[in-house]
Formats: sequence, C-alpha cells, structure tokens
Amino acid sequence: MPTSALIESDRKHLIHPVASLRAHEARGVTILESGRGAWLRDIDGNELLDAFSGLWCVNTGYGHESIVRVATEQMSRLPYATGYFHFGCEPAIRLAEQLIDKAPKSLRHVYFTLGGSDAVDAAIRYITNYYNATGRPQKKQFIALERGYHGSSSVGAGLTALPVFHQNFDLPLPHQHYIPSPYPYRSESGGDPQAVIAESVAALRAKVAELGAERVAAFFCEPIQGSGGVIVPPKGWLKAMRDACRELGILFVADEVITGFGRTGPLFACEGEGVEPDLMTVAKGLTAGYAPMGAVLMSDEVYQGIADGAGTRAAVGHGQTYSAHPVSAAIGLEVMRLYHEGGLLANAAAQAPRFEAGLRELLAHPLVGDARSRGLLGALELVADKATKRRFDPALNLSEKIASTAYRNGLIFRAFNDNILGFAPALCYTGEEFGVLFERLKKTLDTVLDAPEVRAAM
Ligand code: PMP
Repeated sequence: MPTSALIESDRKHLIHPVASLRAHEARGVTILESGRGAWLRDIDGNELLDAFSGLWCVNTGYGHESIVRVATEQMSRLPYATGYFHFGCEPAIRLAEQLIDKAPKSLRHVYFTLGGSDAVDAAIRYITNYYNATGRPQKKQFIALERGYHGSSSVGAGLTALPVFHQNFDLPLPHQHYIPSPYPYRSESGGDPQAVIAESVAALRAKVAELGAERVAAFFCEPIQGSGGVIVPPKGWLKAMRDACRELGILFVADEVITGFGRTGPLFACEGEGVEPDLMTVAKGLTAGYAPMGAVLMSDEVYQGIADGAGTRAAVGHGQTYSAHPVSAAIGLEVMRLYHEGGLLANAAAQAPRFEAGLRELLAHPLVGDARSRGLLGALELVADKATKRRFDPALNLSEKIASTAYRNGLIFRAFNDNILGFAPALCYTGEEFGVLFERLKKTLDTVLDAPEVRAAM
C-alpha cells in the first residue's frame, strides 16, 4: 500500500492511544517500519535514534535474533496454552520461577497479565479479594501519588492522577485518593532530600488518618514517576514510604512497570532501595516489548489470605485468555537471559554515568531548569525563567514543537506536558550512541530557543 493510502486509512479507522483524535486526524500517522539496536527507520527511510525504547519497553533494543528464534520455536511447538483452571506451560512456569528468584524476597507468587494496566487491575482485584477473604471488608480505600500513572483500566485509570485520564471518564472513583508527588525540583523545601521524604511520609500519614486506617487498603506508587514527568524522588524515599505503610497497616504496592528490568540500574528499583513490597506490578521490560506481557507479584501473606480466607474451594474469579501466554513467556525467558548473561544490565550500569553527565551538561542551556535521572531513566524540565522556575504557557504547545524538531533531527524521545522531556534509552546503547543523542538533543533545544515565540515567552 502506498504511504499516502496508509495514512488516509489510519485516519479513517484507527484510534490511537492517548492522542487528541482531532489533532491526529489533522496531523496524520508517523509510520515506523523497522528497528535494529537503538535505531528505528520510518516508512520514508529516515533513520532515527530511539531515546525512549519505544514506550520505555524495548530495553534490549530492536532486532535481537535470539528473541525471534525462541518466539518462532515456541510458536511452532505450542502457540497457545490456557492457564485457566489447572493447565499450564513450561515457559510460564520457568519465567515465574526466575521472577521470584530475582524479585525482592517478600514476593513469592506471580500472576501473568497482558501488560501493565491489567497488572495494576489484577493487583487491585487481588487486594480487594484479600481483605474480603480475611474478614476486613471495610478496607477499600486506595491512595496513590499525584502525577502518578497506573494504566488505563477502568479502575487503574482512577489511581492514575493525570487529568486527561480522568476528564470525561467519570474518574477518580470515590475510594481513590492522592497525596503530593515527591518532586525535589518543585518542592517547597527546595529539594532537600530529607525534607522531601519527611513531607511525603507526613502526607501519607495525614491521608490515612483522614480516611481511617481501618478503611485504607493500600498505597500504590511508582519508584520513579514515569508518565507524570520522570519525577525522581530522593534515595531513601521508597523505603520510608514502605516502612510507613507497614506501620499504618496498609499494603504497599510498587508499580515497577517502567522502573523494572534494569531501567534504573538494578533489575528492580525496589532492589536498589532495599525495599520489599507486598505487591509489585511489572510489564514492558519483562518481554522488552517483543510481545505483550505483564505480571503482578505478591507476598505469601496476600496469597495465603486469598487462598484460605474464603474457607471454600471456590475459584478465584480473575483471569484472561492470554494470561501466561507461552510465546510471551518464552520471549521473557530469553530477555531475562539477555539482561544477565547477555550483559545488558552491565552495559546499562557502565553507560549510566555518561547519560547522567550528558543531561547535567544541558543544565547550562537557557531552556533547561532541571536535569534528573537514575540509571537509564531521565528527564530535562524546560522553564521560561530559571530563577522562578516559571513554566511556559501551555498555549505555546512547546512540547509538540520540541518533539517534531527532534524527529527532524533524527531523534525520538517523549515530550510530556509541562515541557518535561523524558528519556529511556535502551540498555544496549553504546557510548557513541549517547554522543549522537546529546548532539541531536542540543541541536533541537537550540532550534527551539531560536523560535521568536519562545524567546518572547522567556
Ligand atoms: N504502570 C505504569 C507505571 C506505567 O508506566 C504503565 C504504562 N506506561 C502502566 C502501568 C500501564 O501499562 P500498559 O500500558 O502496558 O497497560
């Protein structure tokens, strides 16, 4: 099909996730065609350096023949096996074992999903079931962070605290509550790590007190907030929140959909912080985007509560046709091998200082107010005035301008609201590729700075 016909057909029929439908109709689709390592090629033959790993998922980079091989072999042997009732398949069993082996040791059981949203949804359903089954049906209030993202399911999108996920969807639900983000750059305490941590713990305690601890089920958080603008809390924040939840008698759920699988350095961010959550959600890097899969991991206490509490042998009514899909699981096993024996975690650790230094150097740029990162997850926050941290007027649509300029310069990253630029390079990036990333990024920022409407707004 010619490109113009594809674009026209897309415009007519395909609804794109998290897009303004009218803006998409006007703009048309950008069609990506192939990928190798950290590089993508679009349908017009443009070579693009992907600094966002697709959607923070292709942690291995594109085009790994070994992943293609295991997927093909699994497809020929057994393309599908139900996990319902008492059926199963070897790749899923082995992947569950590996996850439990490598996850924080509080986590003993795995339920496989199709992605992150339904992992969050499953976590919420299992928590609800746990409290009902253990005789505490009043514990149904959920707390999450402002600017948090926990997927797009009908309930999870309510825990997500980004306005577009709520507007016109009748969210949040009455039992969903938020406390402020641990946002050093914009904190009232000026970013002092201990103060940021203390403010968060105090906010959680206050919210639990307001709702009544006997009514609160759980606190959900991302170890580093991704879609809310790559907000990196101080080291020690995660542990402080975990400990506070234990004291308050509420479950602590770490949503590691982005931070998992080497994104922040260790396999899981919880591991790097010495944190043992009650439940953890993962997706994305689990299969590096080569096939859809997510998972919710839970402690033995939660599992046993669900298993025993009902006092019956009734089925636990949660399931999907493609839970523990054999092809996704086989891919997950190979991806895990690449992270460890394949040297990707080691490469990410070796490259992370280069990434951090490149972002920090850009603090000298007139547009850049903040540079933050952990491992290979980072952001630049652009401001109209560095002294006051004043944001650009949203009407300027600067994020869109930056993303399109970057694309013309052969670079893909994510430009969020509030002019935050997010980066999540693949764990296979070489030093040379980081060089290209920062050269193209600097060029992009310079072009944007030269625009008269941007100058006028500063
Ligand atoms: N939780 C977090 C922290 C995420 O970043 C995402 C996706 N960006 C999700 C959940 C939802 O995952 P999915 O898009 O695979 O449904």
